[in-house]
Amino acid sequence: MDKFLGYRCSLCQCEYAPTQVQYTCPADGGNLDVVLDIEHIRRFVSPEVIFNQSEASIWRYLPLLPVDEPGFEGTPFRRVGWTPVFESARLARPLGLSTLWVKDESRNPTASFKDRASAVVVARAREIQAEVVVTASTGNAGAALAGMAAAVGHQAVIFAPKTAPAAKVAQLLVFGAQVILVDGNYDSAFDLTIQAAQEFGWYCRNTGYNPFTAEGKKTAAFEIWEWWEKTRRQRPDLKRLNVFVSVGDGNIISGIHKGFKDLLALGWLDQMPRIFGVQSTGSAAIYNAFQAGNEQIIPVAANTLADSISVDLPRDGVRAVRAARESGGCYLAVEDEQILQAIAALGQAGIFAEPAGATSFAGLVQAVQRGFINQEDAVLVLNTGSGLKDVKAAMQAVSEAPIIEPSLQALKKHLSQ
Ligand SMILES: *Cc1c(COP(=O)(O)O)cnc(C)c1O
Ligand SMILES: [Zn+2]
Repeated sequence: MDKFLGYRCSLCQCEYAPTQVQYTCPADGGNLDVVLDIEHIRRFVSPEVIFNQSEASIWRYLPLLPVDEPGFEGTPFRRVGWTPVFESARLARPLGLSTLWVKDESRNPTASFKDRASAVVVARAREIQAEVVVTASTGNAGAALAGMAAAVGHQAVIFAPKTAPAAKVAQLLVFGAQVILVDGNYDSAFDLTIQAAQEFGWYCRNTGYNPFTAEGKKTAAFEIWEWWEKTRRQRPDLKRLNVFVSVGDGNIISGIHKGFKDLLALGWLDQMPRIFGVQSTGSAAIYNAFQAGNEQIIPVAANTLADSISVDLPRDGVRAVRAARESGGCYLAVEDEQILQAIAALGQAGIFAEPAGATSFAGLVQAVQRGFINQEDAVLVLNTGSGLKDVKAAMQAVSEAPIIEPSLQALKKHLSQ
């Protein structure tokens, strides 16, 4: 494959050939960026070629991905990404914003953003003839890997904390993965997965460890770019775009930053959107580093109801700090109570988010209050996961429904209360 040149370490800048390394930098453990042959890509494709395709998935950006055409047309594997962007005046108005969009990642095949990464990792696994793919997960990464593996007939092993929400565990099991629940947190599952992958020769998808996850996640930036280019043809009044992302390990925000950087390098994007990272105050290691003005990620004892972003030691923290800093955005930390309010607010616009999915919107609310976002700013918020993934948390965001006797009299009594 001519477009995939190798890797560059995000810490020491060392470069490696595609076959030289597989996961992180052997010298310092830094996250590796995939290096693409930008000149080669520019010679063979253009924005217009991409814009005019009919492929309604991440695979419309195949020329910008470090894998070959994977096949599997007609399966859920070809339905990852190309998620809708909803404009919501109902959400914008109370915030005093003129425009607000929500890109709804809950509409991926396994109902979270993680499908983007898992699809590309599965494509990579098949290219390198890795028979078994393994991942640690708080739930969504595992469900995505299990779902994508099932769609193409590949073997998957998933390690998740035993406290993972029931719906996510159900997905893992229904997709037929080998599921192992760990009597510990996500971080302990993460470390065990790396040991198991080495011991048994499995291909490891771990977030912030396998460089291909960020490559999958960058497709969201490509979609935002394509949508933004097309939107601005009708709305030339729109100013710089501001993107809000929930952050746990920091791999989504790093992937999105990488996607925009690829587009800048290609000369297809004139201005980097500002990227805002939002963490829970109960799991804020990356926020802390951003506030301290450095890239030193100090582990926390994570405790938040937003299970998908509950991480002691974020595995992609350095690149995640840079995503906000280099794009002119910043980090915000929100309380669990504000996350619950965000679930309810998004629900009022017809969007059902899990806690981590609504965290980005809670961050926007705070950013408006603090004056980081003004009325004329164009804002896009990512909902990264479906509310159906964690019904227990959703019920905490709303008041209970009344129970009445099935009679008109009882109904009238209730309505008059
Ligand atoms: C994984 C996940 C995130 C955070 O992604 P990171 O790469 O860990 O920062 C946010 N929301 C949902 C729903 C997720 O599953
Ligand atoms: Zn290095």
